[in-house]
Amino acid sequence: MGKLQNKVAVVTGASKGIGASIAKHLAAEGASVVVNYASSKEGADKVVAEIKSAGGKAIAVHADVSKKADIDRLFAEMKKEYGKLDILVNNAGIYEFKAIEEITEEHIHKLFGLNLVGLILTSQESVKHFGTDGGSIINISSIASTLAPPTGSVYSATKAAVDTFALSLAKELGPKKIRVNNINPGMVETEGVHSAGIADSDWRKEVEKETPLQRIGQPQDIAPAAVFFASDDSAWITGESLVISGGYR
Ligand code: NAP
Repeated sequence: MGKLQNKVAVVTGASKGIGASIAKHLAAEGASVVVNYASSKEGADKVVAEIKSAGGKAIAVHADVSKKADIDRLFAEMKKEYGKLDILVNNAGIYEFKAIEEITEEHIHKLFGLNLVGLILTSQESVKHFGTDGGSIINISSIASTLAPPTGSVYSATKAAVDTFALSLAKELGPKKIRVNNINPGMVETEGVHSAGIADSDWRKEVEKETPLQRIGQPQDIAPAAVFFASDDSAWITGESLVISGGYR
């Protein structure tokens, strides 16, 4: 029997990259998974099809999780299909790097709007749906929250805010048996990293040179930690941030 049998999970931004891998790993342990997407219906449908063909349960739900109305609809769909919630993975996020002269109001609002405001509103909505057994909220933060690379000031600030939000929320929700933890990946090869031009950049080479395990990550390097934080294996762990970066920091 899987570690997440009879559990229900919502994974935001699960149509590709780290979120897709987390959705598949949670389902492989028995969880029914809501695979959220913003623009790639095709990607989300593919993740759902892979889960189902492996004998798991999943549905794809469109929602822009930077918008409150969409977040409410996402959880309404979850409730209609599965009736309850045990695990929320706040994975949806965007990264853009800009020198201080290039930063615009739009850039700041775009990154904070999804990476922080959306994550807070999604967490708030999830709390209404966890049962008396509690639940687990897992935020995909970033090593950028502490490493803070140059030209990543806005992105790093969004992720540092996520870390601190989780720390406080863990204290507030502990009495309700709702745990809140962060996973802070280093550079991971995803569709997003490819389309941002990072996968083939000198930056990637520099990171690999400085990484004790000598490579950047793959989504499946991150997903098992989400299973750990979702399951009772981490029953006495809350308010923590786990860096997964091949030793790079
Ligand atoms: P990715 O390949 O770009 O995929 C992003 C996912 O988020 C997609 O499924 C996308 O959905 C979804 N998404 C984007 N905007 C959304 C919105 N407004 N509402 C709902 N979903 C939305 O990203 P990734 O590299 O896997 O990164 C995932 C998370 O890990 C992010 O929070 C990122 O900051 C964090 N992270 C990544 C790395 C890395 O090196 N890759 C390192 C540290 C932390 P659609 O495709 O449907 O638009």
